[in-house]
Parts: sequence; C-alpha cells; structure tokens
Amino acid sequence: MDGRTDTAGGGEQVHQGRDELYIDGRWRPAAADGRIDVVNPVTEQVIAQVPAGDARDVDAAVRAARQALPGWAATAPGKRAAVLAAAAELMAERRDEIAATIAAELGAPPSFATAVHTDMPTAVMGLFAKLAAEHSFEERIGNSRVLHEPVGVVGAITPWNYPLHQVVAKVAPALAAGCTVVLKPAEDTPLVAQLVAEILDAAGLPAGAFNLVTGLGPVAGQALAEHPDVDLVSFTGSTAVGRRIGAAAGGAVKRVALELGGKSANVILPGADLARAVNVGVANVFANSGQTCSAWTRMLVDAARYDEAVELATKAAAKYVPGERLGPVVNAKQRDRVRGYITKGVQEGARIAAGGSDAPDDLTTGYYVRPTVFADVAPDMTIAQEEIFGPVVALIRYEDEEDALRIANGTVYGLAGAVWGADEAEAVAFARRMETGQVDINGGRFNPAAPFGGYKQSGVGRELGPHGLSEYLQTKSLQF
Ligand code: NAP
Ligand code: MG
Repeated sequence: MDGRTDTAGGGEQVHQGRDELYIDGRWRPAAADGRIDVVNPVTEQVIAQVPAGDARDVDAAVRAARQALPGWAATAPGKRAAVLAAAAELMAERRDEIAATIAAELGAPPSFATAVHTDMPTAVMGLFAKLAAEHSFEERIGNSRVLHEPVGVVGAITPWNYPLHQVVAKVAPALAAGCTVVLKPAEDTPLVAQLVAEILDAAGLPAGAFNLVTGLGPVAGQALAEHPDVDLVSFTGSTAVGRRIGAAAGGAVKRVALELGGKSANVILPGADLARAVNVGVANVFANSGQTCSAWTRMLVDAARYDEAVELATKAAAKYVPGERLGPVVNAKQRDRVRGYITKGVQEGARIAAGGSDAPDDLTTGYYVRPTVFADVAPDMTIAQEEIFGPVVALIRYEDEEDALRIANGTVYGLAGAVWGADEAEAVAFARRMETGQVDINGGRFNPAAPFGGYKQSGVGRELGPHGLSEYLQTKSLQF
C-alpha cells in the first residue's frame, strides 16, 4: 500500500494553486521571487506552488487594507452580514473542492476533511453573518452612547492544523466588525486560503477589505506582525512564535490575540462511565492525527480503574489504522518531532501500551506516525508537559480528586479539557476548579459559538461567537 487511498474522493477537484497574491481586490504577482512547494503528506509529492511573499508584498497588502478601512467600517452591518452570508453559501457550493484541497495539502482523510475541516468553518462563516446582522453596535450607559467601532487593520497569521477553520475564525469576525484584513496562512496549507480569497471576492467584498499574502513565517509572517500600520495581530500557532509576536505587539502598543498550544486533561472521575470516557477521549486525541491544539492529550484515571483504562485505550487505538482512519501528520519535520517525543517518553520511563516511534507497517510513503498509547506516565514527564501535536495519548494515574486537580492544572497550558463524572453536578464542580478555557462535561459536544481560547500560556483573547466578534471591536463613548 502506498497510502494513496486517502486522497480518493475528488482528487481532480483539488485547487491547483495560483502563482499570485490577492491584494486590493485582484490577483497579482508577488514582488518577491520565491515559491513555496505544497506537498501532499500522503504521497509526499509536490502538488502545487504558491508565491513566497516578502515584506514588500505585506506592505502593499497592509496599504490596501488601510485604504479600504474607512469604506468597509462605514458599511452598514447588515450589508457586511450579506457579504458574509454570500461567502457561507459559496463555501457550501464549493464544499467538494474545499474538502479535496484540504485532504490534499493537510493529508486529512476525506470524510474528516469534509465533515470537520469544511462543514464546520462553513457553519462558522454563517454564524458570523448572523452576528454581524444582530449585534448592537451601539449601547446606552447612563448619559453615554457607547459606539462599538472596528479596531482597524487586522494582521491574521494562521497555522496548518485546521487550515480553513482558523482562517474563518479570524477573518469572519474581523470583517463582521468592520475591520479589514491581511492574512498570512501557514506555508504547508496555502491552497485553501486561496480558495477563501476567491470566495470573498465572488461574495462581493470590496477591494482591499481582505488581502492574502502567502509566504514563510519568519519573512512574511514577521513583516505582518511588526508592520506599524497593523492595528491588531491575531495569531494561532506555537507558543514560541506567539511569545515573540506578543512581545513585538506590546512594544508597539497594539492589540494582540494569541491562540497557542495546549496539553489538555481528560479527567475521568471514579463514578464515570469508564468505557465511554476512554473511547471518546482516544477519539478526541487521534482525530486529525493528533494535530489539535485543544486535544485531551492527558487522560487522568483513578488508581483503582487505571489498568482497565489502559486496556480500553489500547483497544480503541487499534481502530486507528494509519493510512485509513488515521491520516499522516502534516510534514516530515512534524513526523520526526512526534516520533522524537515518543522516544523521549520511553527514555523517561513511560510504558508503550500501543504504537511506538517506529514507522507503521506496510506504509513506505506518507508522514505517518503510529497511534500511540502511553501508560505509567508521571505528571512531570516531558510527554505529560509538552505539546506533541501527534497521535499520542498519555494515561496518568491519580489517587484522589485533589490529586487529579493538581495534575490537571499542573502544566503551563490551559486551553481545553473534559470531565466525566457520575453526574453532571459532580463534573461541573470539578470543571469550575480547572484552569482552562473550555471543558466538555460528560461528552458535551463542540459549540462553534462558545468562546474558545486559553488560560495561562495557551493564549490571550477568545475566538468564535459574540466573544470572538468583540475582539475586533473597540469602544468610543459619547457623553450627553
Ligand atoms: P508556527 O511556526 O507557530 O506557525 C504558525 C504560523 O505562524 C504559520 O503561519 C507560520 O508560518 C507563522 N510563523 C512562523 N514563524 C513566524 C514568525 N517569526 N513571525 C510571524 N509568523 C511566524 O507553528 P508550526 O511550525 O506550524 O508548528 C509547530 C508547533 O506549534 C506544533 O508542533 C504545535 O505544537 C504548535 N501548533 C499549535 C497550533 C495551535 O492551534 N495552537 C497550531 C499549529 C501548531 P510558516 O507556516 O511559514 O511556519
Ligand atoms: Mg513553522
């Protein structure tokens, strides 16, 4: 098997890639000469090339966004909403092409590329269209009229792991608020970002309100983050880069939103349905090949049921056959990084219950990692502290609830988490004490309108829903 099966389902519809940037409402060549190769992680083949824009291109894009700002900011919210609603409709119309493109550039299995990578952001675009129409951009406080005004020009820098979702989670609320945007997408997944530009253009967005500069992080990304005419930088990605972007934004006294990593805890309390909690927990980690910032990568189980949980997790992992249900990770560097963490886990004394650092059997092509279950993980081990971003789950034993809470809160991160209890009240009581931005109670499902974002070093700011919209607004108070 060469792993090619995962690209089935519309290979001919994959976006070919444009050798142009989208600036000021039109596609045009980059000032820079460089190109980025887009590689399919399943086949390891180059499938397209896009421009590697540089500081000159970023500058042109920021200028276009600045010029478009007064007009778009003054456009009635209902009209802004109509453009976003049209974009959501176009996304739905181009669903197969979007899904095939994400499957090709990220390596996501086709069904996941459609149901999660495509349908969720399409819904989010629609939700922000609704919010733009419904939000009250004025409020009355005593003798003041408070205006909610757009923050201004937004520089959006996004990662590859949910390539469309993360673009929409920034661009849709920014445009809904009346901001204009320059987007620098991840170098690994620029093709779907080009589709977003085509869709916003076709939806009737005025020239300059959205601009796309593909390029490398330390070149185009850094130029955008440091551009003096950007009012707000919204970044999703690694903590290392986020810290630098936050520092630069602080120095320039500009707004910054950071969505960084996580090491979220899946806390299974003694009274919980163990089989369900373990199965849902394993699925949560292995979805998207473990490349989810909010993944519950630490599973906390009471000592009495720990061995049973390891057995259940091992059985669940067997269902994630690489090349079938489990896609590859995004590139060779990530594969090596993830495998390095697995080796480190063994060196530090954790026990491999399933998977391991060696290549999956029979897969000679593709950046695959075996779905790995670690047992006997101590809370201070590297694999229990650092974000691995691969299909690796660490099972940690706890003695009592206080111990579980200490372990759950015992990392620098605080993005998401889960609690499973005998009843809802018990789980909620525990969740209240967790230092984290989201907690799913007894299998509660993802809510695309609920605020998403981190406590502690998982970030600054919130995305999605009304809270996500307000990140792109600033207030002006008029006194009467
Ligand atoms: P990353 O380097 O932080 O990339 C995120 C985005 O920032 C990309 O668009 C990237 O461009 C850009 N970037 C990189 N260096 C920059 C700089 N100096 N200034 C401005 N922008 C810059 O993350 P990664 O390399 O893709 O992944 C590394 C690790 O980050 C992962 O293993 C994972 O732990 C974590 N991560 C977290 C999330 C999350 O959702 N929280 C998402 C992705 C990754 P390039 O694409 O050109 O590098
Ligand atoms: Mg990078």
